[in-house]
Amino acid sequence: MIPYHSPIVDLYLKGMTDWEGYFTMRLGPDADVASERETLETVLETTAQICRELEPELRAGWHEAARLVDGEVVYPPAIQKAYETLAAAGLVSFGVENAYGGYGLPVWVTNVILQMIARADAGLMTIVGLQAGVADDLQAYASDELKERYLPGFSSGELMGAMDLTEPQAGSDLGAIRTRATETDGEVRLDGEKIFITNGGAGVHLVLARDDDTFEESAGTTSGLSLFLCPRVLPDGSANGLRVVRLEEKLGIHGSPTATIAFDSATAFRVGEKGQGFRAMLTLMNNARLGVAAQGVGIAEAALESAVVYARQRKQFGVPIGEQPLMKNIIARAITALEGSRALLYRACRLLDRNRAIEAMLARGEPNEGERTEWESVFERNQVRIRLLTPLAKYLATETSDDITRMAIQTHGGLGFMSESVPGKLHNDAIITTIYEGTSEIQVSFALKEVGKGALGVVFDEVRQELAGLVRPELQEHAKRVSKGIDQALEAAPALASDMAYALLSAGALAEIMASVIVSSELLLQADADPSRFDVAASWVERRMSDVETRTARIRAGNATLIERCERMIAQAVPE
Ligand SMILES: Cc1cc2nc3c(=O)[nH]c(=O)nc-3n(C[C@H](O)[C@H](O)[C@H](O)COP(=O)(O)OP(=O)(O)OC[C@H]3O[C@@H](n4cnc5c(N)ncnc54)[C@H](O)[C@@H]3O)c2cc1C
Repeated sequence: MIPYHSPIVDLYLKGMTDWEGYFTMRLGPDADVASERETLETVLETTAQICRELEPELRAGWHEAARLVDGEVVYPPAIQKAYETLAAAGLVSFGVENAYGGYGLPVWVTNVILQMIARADAGLMTIVGLQAGVADDLQAYASDELKERYLPGFSSGELMGAMDLTEPQAGSDLGAIRTRATETDGEVRLDGEKIFITNGGAGVHLVLARDDDTFEESAGTTSGLSLFLCPRVLPDGSANGLRVVRLEEKLGIHGSPTATIAFDSATAFRVGEKGQGFRAMLTLMNNARLGVAAQGVGIAEAALESAVVYARQRKQFGVPIGEQPLMKNIIARAITALEGSRALLYRACRLLDRNRAIEAMLARGEPNEGERTEWESVFERNQVRIRLLTPLAKYLATETSDDITRMAIQTHGGLGFMSESVPGKLHNDAIITTIYEGTSEIQVSFALKEVGKGALGVVFDEVRQELAGLVRPELQEHAKRVSKGIDQALEAAPALASDMAYALLSAGALAEIMASVIVSSELLLQADADPSRFDVAASWVERRMSDVETRTARIRAGNATLIERCERMIAQAVPE
């Protein structure tokens, strides 16, 4: 069995992270680092224990969907019980600062928690993940009055959060949002409809809407959008004009209610500045992207466990199927892919933590003038890296989750196809991860945009420095292979820079190349810190650097005429 609190989590918790630096930057020189770190350990161990205990009941209740009864969302019993258990342990709003009753946990710890919850039940994770994400966004952008009114409820678990972006005509393209916000004498009213809203019965909705006074001129863009907090119950206790119209029936994550929400002159409170809603929502969306990556890792971990346990016990041709070399290769490939996704996710989260700590230190005015400029430039470089790593982490972890759950079904043979099969449930849950919080295609397009702004150089420079710093002799050959991969990627990049259409056509390949290189470095760092990680690191580098060679050669050889070939093939295969 894979422990919920795994040795890899311990490697980052106890070995690879400079907690002294993190806590003193974030909390100041008087921070009690030992006690802060101990809290993290306790929180992770408690979550692991709770999730392990909740898993059987949640999995047995997997088919049960949330219901709409008299306009109220009713959760399946296992989800309700699990949420209450997590809330009682203070594990539903991890990032909220102590002042509002939360723990102010680092992003990395938050995402390890979400990963564990997703492993127990991916539907439950969406409820808790959004609660944490909405609370974080309120903390960053809401007025003190709103924070004081709502955040303590998030910390205790009495209030849940929902994020309302999608409309029938506005999915990937949020510039098409038409929910209207009308402000009269300082009071805002919302009118419109949102669809596919996770946990739509929540007490607090963060809504992206278009301001009435610039509605026509800003149509089709994200610049006229503002962010609003819309509660189901108003501060005076009366019901607000926000209604759950229906719940969807879905292929997976049944315990997670997916709602259509109608706003009928609903009272709302502005969060952040007028017209800056998309920017504020991006903070939540980027956090949520890491959360969905964590969800992918958690689901994949559950699927891997089920595949290996089954392969050890199922005998064919007189031996357990797991003894077949082909099965060993399939499972080892899945382990490599899972560990690669985890490495990228943890790297992105820790970078975000580091920057939040630097930001806190700069806000306290601690560094002297000379050092300040240097820290500001470190902060900016980290921001560039975070903007690239976030979509890549979401893309890699969710696509991998899809693959590994599919592998687990295959490993179970015919049993995998039965409606009660565990890998079948996990696969159905994994599918959505490549769609919501921006589809995989949107993530690789975002990553491409960051490359266009110069992120590749910054990110690869960092990787080269890390490779140069590796100490263990057995890693040096692998480090050289990664350096060669970087050279190949940089040689291929100009072919994309000259033609945007060709760059978009190749965005998936480019994302794979970048993930291959960045993950190589993170896994080699793991192996440098703990020799037991060598096999995983070596397996990733060997598999993925051959892939980089092939993909970069194809990028160099191709051009935008390939789009015309795609068009001809589609027209021939499916005539209009
Ligand atoms: C279960 C579930 C829960 C959800 N929860 C929430 C929530 O809580 N809040 C919320 O606001 N929304 C939520 N959503 C909505 C979700 O974020 C959207 O479904 C998603 O962003 C995709 O939008 P769409 O469904 O309109 O697909 P479309 O945007 O129509 O995309 C269809 C296909 O076209 C591709 N495509 C679109 N544009 C491009 C492009 N420029 N380049 C290449 N390919 C492209 C997409 O990748 C996809 O493959 C949820 C959806 C589901 C199913």
